[in-house]
Amino acid sequence: ASPATDYVLTQDILAPLAALRSSQTDKRTFGHLLVVGGSRSYPGAVVLAVRAALRSGAGLVTAFVPERLAPEYAARHPEAMWVGCPETAAGGLAGGTVDLIQARQSRATAMLMGPGMSAEPEVIETMVAIGRMSAIPLVLDADALRPEVLAAAQGRSVVCTPHAGEYERIGGRAGLRPASGSGDVVTVLKGPLTRIVSNSGGSETGPTYYSPFGGPVLARGGSGDILAGLIGGLLAQSPADPLLAACRGVVWHGRAADLLARARGQVAIELSETLEQLGPALH
Ligand code: AMP
Ligand code: MG
Repeated sequence: ASPATDYVLTQDILAPLAALRSSQTDKRTFGHLLVVGGSRSYPGAVVLAVRAALRSGAGLVTAFVPERLAPEYAARHPEAMWVGCPETAAGGLAGGTVDLIQARQSRATAMLMGPGMSAEPEVIETMVAIGRMSAIPLVLDADALRPEVLAAAQGRSVVCTPHAGEYERIGGRAGLRPASGSGDVVTVLKGPLTRIVSNSGGSETGPTYYSPFGGPVLARGGSGDILAGLIGGLLAQSPADPLLAACRGVVWHGRAADLLARARGQVAIELSETLEQLGPALH
């Protein structure tokens, strides 16, 4: 097959998010995202992801975190439902987490797994078990970007959001399309010029979508966690179109960063300020 056309994404992809919502809706209209993340060693990432998800327009966000972290997170961000889960000795998510997620999965529309989970062997086992059990489209980021977790999720729609190092870990290297089997796998290769590809149904010839948004203001810790939460929240709202959710999330995140840099410069900022720019970025 001849190579497909490549595209540069524009902010037009955000227009439907800026439209007025119908009054005939309730919270179920806008999807329910499950977020799985956090560990004693990395307690912050999942909070950034949940905060971004809460601002994505999703109707409901439920987060599964180690039980010792849940009360403080709930006190700070009560808009999300926080479920305290069994912990490993090192404070990561233990195997019993799988049953808690399973019990709440039936009415959920998408799941984000990975932020701050750590690479503890027992936690990796938990991630593999969740990947096998899951029946909804998944966003895999950070610690969930491992070949064994991707293999466990095979057949599901998956959006992977690796930076270059994680991309190599999941077997990407030179090409952009890790082997996936039958499900839709959308890969967001993050960097100064983020690239998005989909190998829908195993096809190797889909276009590459480039995002020209964002800049060095994003080159700080926590940036990817916010992106993952946004894409998760968008996927919960349009679970049948993981490529659209991924492209929209990348453009929205990058536009917000551009507005932040314009308002405050690239240096003396904290990334949570990009959350304040998500609204303005739609208009
Ligand atoms: P992570 O490494 O997981 O925190 O993700 C980093 C995020 O910041 C990704 O969305 C990258 O695309 C973005 N990013 C990092 N450095 C730059 C840069 N120099 N220009 C634009 N975006 C960047
Ligand atoms: Mg990251």
